[in-house]
Amino acid sequence: MNLIWQSELRQLVGDAYVSFNPSEHERYVTDWFGREAGVAVAVVRPRSAQEVAAVVACCHRHGVSIVPQGGNTGLVGGALPDASGRQCVLSLERMNTIRSIDAAGKVMTVEAGVLLAQVQAAASCEGLEFPLSMGSEGSCTIGGVLSTNAGGTAVLRYGNARALCLGLEVVTAEGEILNGLRQLRKDNTGYDLRDLFIGAEGTLGIITAAVLSMVPAPKAKLSAFVALESAEKAVALLDLVQAEVGPLLTAFELISNTCLKLVAQYFPNMAYPFAQSTPYAVLLELSDHESEEHALTSIERVMERAIERGLVTDVLLPQSLAQSKKFWNIREHIPLSQVQDGKNVKHDISLPISKIPLFLAQAERLIASLHPGARMIAFGHLGDGNLHFNVAAPLGQPVETIFQNKAAITDAINELVASLNGSISAEHGIGKMKVQDLARFKSDVEMRLFRQIKQALDPQCIFNPGKILSH
Ligand SMILES: Cc1cc2nc3c(=O)[nH]c(=O)nc-3n(C[C@H](O)[C@H](O)[C@H](O)COP(=O)(O)OP(=O)(O)OC[C@H]3O[C@@H](n4cnc5c(N)ncnc54)[C@H](O)[C@@H]3O)c2cc1C
Repeated sequence: MNLIWQSELRQLVGDAYVSFNPSEHERYVTDWFGREAGVAVAVVRPRSAQEVAAVVACCHRHGVSIVPQGGNTGLVGGALPDASGRQCVLSLERMNTIRSIDAAGKVMTVEAGVLLAQVQAAASCEGLEFPLSMGSEGSCTIGGVLSTNAGGTAVLRYGNARALCLGLEVVTAEGEILNGLRQLRKDNTGYDLRDLFIGAEGTLGIITAAVLSMVPAPKAKLSAFVALESAEKAVALLDLVQAEVGPLLTAFELISNTCLKLVAQYFPNMAYPFAQSTPYAVLLELSDHESEEHALTSIERVMERAIERGLVTDVLLPQSLAQSKKFWNIREHIPLSQVQDGKNVKHDISLPISKIPLFLAQAERLIASLHPGARMIAFGHLGDGNLHFNVAAPLGQPVETIFQNKAAITDAINELVASLNGSISAEHGIGKMKVQDLARFKSDVEMRLFRQIKQALDPQCIFNPGKILSH
């Protein structure tokens, strides 16, 4: 690669913050599961928006493409360079300053490399909450969260990342800094560029900072872990809880028996939570602005009704915050137990909530015909219609055997999702893994408009080539 480009990069960010040595790149070029890897010509770690702009301008001049990267916890290969060895990873990890907090206005301005967990903690110090929560929060960054329009467990109450962002600072493909760090909750002044960059997976610009909105912290959060006979009953329970407690409901997670068993198998300190085996469980959470007693009374009342109506077969109400955390630990260890179990064929889908039981029943039949005995690892954010539907090899078969049928399984699941008016990517994005699927399931009009947007904002295609769009 061009020696002049290398020396310019060194001057721009300092020798210590650019590496051309592949032996130092491993954590930047390998994904969280350790299943995907690429090759980077360089890893560059600027410290400010000005440095990012200068690096982008330099790469633009030399025709080097850039893969923006935050915590590298994305699940569709979006933050990885390809195998060509010609793409440069631009890590935002050193841009990790909380620039300001306005507690009265309930807004916080943070740099892109600040971790989601740090944002949550900073909000909490002000008696506020940043209500986006997910298993990767200790490692993922605000830049990545916004670039993937991440979801998580509280979407049914507060929306995705997009709903929690008021303004952005972005470096464009020409190396200009677009300062859109507005704190406005209403602003109808033309096209919404902010919303274009959110969810663009680093293909249109590099987010360097964001204004985030916060909400008052609840007085109490209480969870219940319930056992159910079917997904139909889980949907009916959601309806009941929403009718009874309205906006108090902040999480409603569906977990299949296979998931509970996997967690207990690989993490023996997280034992199977119910006395009897159950086909499904729901972990729900109420956030109460009155008091813990009020939350407890509400949750007990709802659970009594659920029992009366025959919706649940067992109810675990935590006696303490620590016990509540234990339940959430089980939920959050589902991805980790899958890593221990070995690779599986993954789908991150969303559906109209009422169609989820039908989807699960039909998907089970399809999988049984395509790969008899395969295990379905189904869990997800039922409250917003998002399921993680993963398919693993039958017990006793080598893990890899399921990949012999990967294409057929994924095609069948995607077709089923489309027939039920769902989405083939609910919250993880497209990255490089779903590029072909996107082209297949979006209309020609949508794909043409996508290409025109890319062409307008990044005509030389230097930002994350091969992600979302194939060219
Ligand atoms: C255990 C686990 C649990 C998870 N749970 C959830 C969940 O519940 N909900 C959910 O939505 N996701 C979940 N994820 C996926 C992942 O954590 C999210 O997608 C997260 O938002 C990615 O953030 P990151 O900083 O790691 O981004 P990265 O993985 O580094 O990047 C993701 C994408 O954003 C781009 N990007 C990163 N930073 C920038 C930037 N500053 N400017 C422009 N583009 C950028 C990258 O190029 C890439 O395309 C989970 C992942 C794991 C490992």
